[in-house]
Amino acid sequence: MKSDFPTCRFCGGVHLRSFVDLGIMPLANSYVRPEARDQPEARYPLHARVCEACLLVQVEEAVLPEAIFSDYAYFSSISAGWVAQAKRFAEAQIRTLGLGPASRVVEIASNDGYLLQHFVAQGVPVLGVEPAANIAKVANEKGIATDVSFFGRDTARRLVAAGHQADLVVANNVLAHVPDLDDFVGGLALVLKPGGRLSLEFPHLLNLMAGRQFDTIYHEHLCYFSAGFIVRLLAAHDLSIAEVECLATHGGSLRITACHKGWAPAQTPASLADILAGEHAAGLDRIEGYGGFAARVAETCTALRQWLAEARAMGRTVAAYGAAAKGNTLLNACGMTSTDIICVADMSPHKQGLLLPGSHIPIVSPEALIASAPDDVLILPWNLSAEIAGILAPLRKAGTRLVIPVPMPHALGPQRIGEGGA
Ligand SMILES: [Zn+2]
Repeated sequence: MKSDFPTCRFCGGVHLRSFVDLGIMPLANSYVRPEARDQPEARYPLHARVCEACLLVQVEEAVLPEAIFSDYAYFSSISAGWVAQAKRFAEAQIRTLGLGPASRVVEIASNDGYLLQHFVAQGVPVLGVEPAANIAKVANEKGIATDVSFFGRDTARRLVAAGHQADLVVANNVLAHVPDLDDFVGGLALVLKPGGRLSLEFPHLLNLMAGRQFDTIYHEHLCYFSAGFIVRLLAAHDLSIAEVECLATHGGSLRITACHKGWAPAQTPASLADILAGEHAAGLDRIEGYGGFAARVAETCTALRQWLAEARAMGRTVAAYGAAAKGNTLLNACGMTSTDIICVADMSPHKQGLLLPGSHIPIVSPEALIASAPDDVLILPWNLSAEIAGILAPLRKAGTRLVIPVPMPHALGPQRIGEGGA
């Protein structure tokens, strides 16, 4: 645990303002065995704050990363859409950068090799860096060379000494998990060849705020990034942004392509200028722009509780889909339990049979959910709602409503829910 008085994890500033306080809750990936349902769970404050000096939105570190990642149950390859997107990314990078057998790709937080496998298939040498030993083992067994370690300057120096300096360094959807941003980005700069390209993807804070995506806030996500902050973070390590793309993933992400300063375009790229203008219009470049978010989140939670109360009063059964981390923040922030939601379906056999942390909603297979024929299904990973709507097509045909929780609860398609609805 850190000290009682939070300091900014980037600039060391001591003036942190409340962004949204989601209460005391268990770790989002700490699934509960049914026989342990009566034992107390470890709970930690989940309070996002924004630094007045550098405007980094952050939560306090609750536990050491080792405690979170040692038995991490997330396998990237479980989502079909995710694997398809990884393939497109790899093919585009190979084409754009002209990667071949003499090139090298390093990915940080490479998971089970869901991305690097597509470089290997094209004959491009790769190395993954993954802190979870159980997941790295899966990757190595598939032939994706994977180093089990946390990434930072020390790991980067070891990789460079072993000849792994890379033409392409990929750190997609990992930056939010990093406790020491300075050491991590310092390591990226070391492992990146002169003239090489660095790819960073992260959910865009602008979308989190506009879409009330408070359920993407959880203990393992230590930071929430604007493009303006990323410019300052990279500049501190003599890295510059060459291009920015907007992606639909995770409710709206940014893909930043960066390089060593000497290799950057002389002018601010138009794609970056556009994003920064959007952030300025939304007030993200000044501390006042961060006020009011907590009140909007409270309004969404009230509407969700009201929808559940009305459903129960009408005798409707409610289930949920997706035992993902973001669902747990939403359920626990709104105080929902297995009394409100009979079960939650998930494709991952690693999660079926367990209970969600805090809410203790039992995790079942999608087949079991379909067989239980609920009246409403709350889609927790709403970023995958199109894929999930396909899986639940038999239920929808029979009249089940699929409900998306944010920005305000609303039904997918033509059906409507009560006052809080679309
Ligand atoms: Zn700061």
